[in-house]
Amino acid sequence: MPVYIVLLGPPGAGKGTQAQLISEKLGLPHISSGDIFRENLKNQTDLGKLAKGYMDRGELVPDDLTIQMIRDRLSRPDCVSGALLDGFPRTVAQAEALTQMLAEFTGRVNAVPYINVAEEVLVERLTGRWTCRAEGHVFHEKFSPPKVAGVCDFDGSELYQRPDDNVETVTRRIRVYLDQTMPLIAYYRQGGVLLEVDGTKTINQVGADLLAGLDKMV
Ligand code: ADP
Ligand code: ADP
Repeated sequence: MPVYIVLLGPPGAGKGTQAQLISEKLGLPHISSGDIFRENLKNQTDLGKLAKGYMDRGELVPDDLTIQMIRDRLSRPDCVSGALLDGFPRTVAQAEALTQMLAEFTGRVNAVPYINVAEEVLVERLTGRWTCRAEGHVFHEKFSPPKVAGVCDFDGSELYQRPDDNVETVTRRIRVYLDQTMPLIAYYRQGGVLLEVDGTKTINQVGADLLAGLDKMV
């Protein structure tokens, strides 16, 4: 049976950072909805053009577009053994659609690591974030600096600051998270698959907590 893991947590909690580690350890492809949208934006596809305004404003792209995009991605051959989802689902409607589509793939959401970080910490994390152009690897100018400023440690590509990582848009994204994504914590807790970890610890410690918790669940 395939294994599906959903990473939950506010913007800036460390989902992308930890996804790299978990994906490697468990051998599951890392599927980041934000990365797929940004790829579409870069290639100026119809989906990218539709998503752009929402992303610039820090709002969610409509559910139907997002759900279809993830369904296409999860149908690809590299997902036969499952996937690690980062940034999807973000609404109850998306979570319900995911449950349904995974049943079609004879799977289910096996574990939902929830990286819990207080709101006050998020703005500093996101406004200091540097992202790699090639693969979306993330660094932080203070908390996780690259070996050479402006250059990705993993693939040597250029690091940039995402246009939506400014204080105003970050504030909006946090509000959207509290309104629309927080209800998923109760949804998955009720389903018995939630694994809560303290995301304010160091990157290495959070990673160790996540792997220890997941070891018991998948
Ligand atoms: P998300 O994918 O949840 O939005 P990221 O993984 O991109 O979050 O992390 C946001 C920023 O915070 C990045 O700059 C990252 O380097 C930094 N970061 C991630 N985890 C930690 C941590 N445990 N302590 C300090 N900074 C962190
Ligand atoms: P974060 O740093 O908040 O984790 P992401 O890279 O996951 O940011 O998402 C960036 C933007 O892409 C979001 O603000 C939103 O506009 C769009 N997006 C990503 N995932 C989804 C989703 N599941 N539903 C709707 N919109 C999404």
